[in-house]
Amino acid sequence: MAPLIKDGSGLQEQALSLVARGDFNGAQEKFLAASRKFAKEGRVRDASKAQAYAQLMVARPGMASPQMLSGLSSYLSSLGDEPMLLGARPTTARTLAAQLGLEAREAQLDGRAGSIPIPPQQRYDAQRELALSYQQLGDEVLILPELFTRVPQTGSAKGHVLSALAEEGLAGALVGSDPLNAAEHFQSASQWWRLAGDEGRAAEAARKTGSLSVRASCWICGRQGSGHGVQFVSIPIAPESAALRESESSPLPSRDPTGRSAYVCKGCTSMISDVADQIASARDQALEARVMAQIAALRSQMPRG
Ligand SMILES: [Zn+2]
Repeated sequence: MAPLIKDGSGLQEQALSLVARGDFNGAQEKFLAASRKFAKEGRVRDASKAQAYAQLMVARPGMASPQMLSGLSSYLSSLGDEPMLLGARPTTARTLAAQLGLEAREAQLDGRAGSIPIPPQQRYDAQRELALSYQQLGDEVLILPELFTRVPQTGSAKGHVLSALAEEGLAGALVGSDPLNAAEHFQSASQWWRLAGDEGRAAEAARKTGSLSVRASCWICGRQGSGHGVQFVSIPIAPESAALRESESSPLPSRDPTGRSAYVCKGCTSMISDVADQIASARDQALEARVMAQIAALRSQMPRG
C-alpha cells in the first residue's frame, strides 16, 4: 500500500500529476485540499498559490465568465513572478494574469454571462484592440488554451484569428445596408485568415468579397445596385435574349459574364414573385371552381332515392 501523503506539497504534487493526465476536476479537488493543508502548515503563500491553481482548473477559455476570469487575473497578479507549472509548460503567475486579463476582455465581447449586446462598430473597435494586445504577445504560447485543448497557440496567431472575426462581424452587419463596404471588410478578413493559416475561411471570405463587389444595372428597370444576392440576383434568360444589346443608359452590366443570366434588382424580383403568386392563386381558384362544378354535375346525374 502506498504511504499516505499528508503534507501540502505532496497533495499539490498529486494535483499537478492529475493536471498532466487531463483530469481537471480531480486536480481542482486536490489543489483545494493542498491549499487547506498549506494554510494549516502556516505556508500562506503556498496556500494562495494552490488556491490559484484550483481556480485555473475551471477557467476554461470560451466558457468561463468575464467576472471569473478578471477576478482570477487580479488574484494571480498579486502572486507576482511566482513560478507556476501547468501541463508541461512552466510559466509565472504574472504571465498567466496578463493572459487571463485578455481572456476576460474576450469573454466580455462574446456576451458571455448575459452582458449587454454591443453595437457592431463598437464591437469591431474593441475586437481589433484586443487582437492587437494578443499580437503584442508575439510568440508567447497561450497557457490555458494549450492546457485544455492540447493545441499550442501563440499570442500573434490568436490576434490574427480575432482580427479576422472582427472584420467578418462588421462585414456581416453591413451587408444589407452597404454591400461595397461589407466587401472591403470581408477582404480584410480573408487576409487575416490567410495569416492565421486557415485557407478555407480565407477563400470563403474572398468569395463573399467577390459577389458583394459586383455592381450591376437591373435588366428590367435599369436601377443600379451593388452586392450580388443583396441588392440584385441572377435570373436565367432565354438564349435569344442573350443576343439583345445592353441598355446604354448605364455603364454597368445587366447580364452576368456568361450572358445566360440577367441581373434583376430586388425591387423587380419581389414584384415578379408577387405577380406570380397572384396568377398561381387565380389558377387554383379557377381549378377549384371547375372541379366543384363537375362534382355538382355528377351528383345531379345520380339516381335519387
Ligand atoms: Zn429592377
